[in-house]
Amino acid sequence: MSDPCNQESSPLLSIEDALDKIKTAVSPVSGTETLNLRLGLGRILAASVYAPINIPHDRNSAMDGYAFSSCDWTDAQMFTLRLIGTSWAGRPFLGQLQAGECVRIFTGAVVPTHADSVIMQEQVQVQQQTIHFPADTRILQNIREIGEDVKQGSCLIAEPKKLSAVDLGLLASAGVEQLSVKRQLKIAYFSTGDELTALGLPLESGKIYDSNRTLLGGLLVDPSYSVVDLGVIPDNKQLLEDSFIAAAKNYDVLITTGGVSVGEADFVKEILYSCGDVNFWKIAIKPGKPLAFGKIGACHFFGLPGNPVAVVVTFQQIVAPALRQLSGAPFVQPLRLTATCTTTLKKVPGRQEYQRGILSQDENGEFFVASAGLQGSHILSSLSQSGCYIVLPKMCAGVQAGERVTVEPFNLLI
Ligand code: AMP
Ligand code: MG
Repeated sequence: MSDPCNQESSPLLSIEDALDKIKTAVSPVSGTETLNLRLGLGRILAASVYAPINIPHDRNSAMDGYAFSSCDWTDAQMFTLRLIGTSWAGRPFLGQLQAGECVRIFTGAVVPTHADSVIMQEQVQVQQQTIHFPADTRILQNIREIGEDVKQGSCLIAEPKKLSAVDLGLLASAGVEQLSVKRQLKIAYFSTGDELTALGLPLESGKIYDSNRTLLGGLLVDPSYSVVDLGVIPDNKQLLEDSFIAAAKNYDVLITTGGVSVGEADFVKEILYSCGDVNFWKIAIKPGKPLAFGKIGACHFFGLPGNPVAVVVTFQQIVAPALRQLSGAPFVQPLRLTATCTTTLKKVPGRQEYQRGILSQDENGEFFVASAGLQGSHILSSLSQSGCYIVLPKMCAGVQAGERVTVEPFNLLI
């Protein structure tokens, strides 16, 4: 097959165009499974959940205090009521409240039928069974009404949503136990390169430890993915091709690192052309220019660069949104801020750059960002120390200290 991209002259794709191409090329997995609520964290809701009950289910008290009827209240007058019982959380008062009576009540306890007001316990004087209400007693307060949080039959959570701990708590509050979620996205990854050495082995001259598989393993932690590490494949075209074809049969997504450039031992793109379809393979970003995106059979393929920082940047900017879309999760626009740059930044026009930065905020709420140090795509230490990217547009030719820049904070903990 001819390789229309083989000429170095082929234009670099802007990141926006690359993301558009991905958006068009991938569609969410269609399979679903039913799960117990407890296993739902981070999964993508496949069927909207409607509230089987009202929340609150009962009219209940928002305070520890005394429940009474506003019929017993006279404007700006002190009054006294007779205490006739207690309503506990979980153990309602079962009697009937008559005129001139009140009930001791605790937070979350059912408000007796004829009561419509609760006064905080700190505001009354208690004299055995006689409760003195002050002149400024407010009526119709401190009662949580039936269904004021969620009405029975209303949509509790709409699909598709990536379920948070709060979502699960909300579903639990409605007594929902079973969920329909999207099936997990099956993802495999491997590293390529003759120089790669596994952890635990001594490092021979010319070799390096394989950091990319550890990086990817961490970056891919997500309950909506099931992830398999396929190890290291040497720079051997046949072995690589066999590995690609085997993985493509078993996974929805295959991610590789290394071998995607134009060196003599870089076979990834060539193999993708011969056994699959290349959608694009060069993006105008730095780090991360060579990045092959395509398909082998039904399997989506991402050939990431070898340098570890380029792996992280391309993963966050390109792969992560694609995986979200594939998994069925709604699109999330990354948060961007404007900050004053406190250091000089070097840049040559031509590609959008993601420079590693350290973000801070002063007592007035103003954001400042400083370079996190060396910016080579092999310098993982400065990425480890940073907390954001300073996003420099394609035509930017460097930044002087004091200039305003766009910053994209990230959280690499998960
Ligand atoms: P390549 O794209 O294969 O030419 O790799 C570019 C650079 O990334 C080279 O310096 C490689 O040694 C390095 N590299 C490739 N794979 C890995 C890996 N798994 N871990 C760390 N560095 C890597
Ligand atoms: Mg290589």
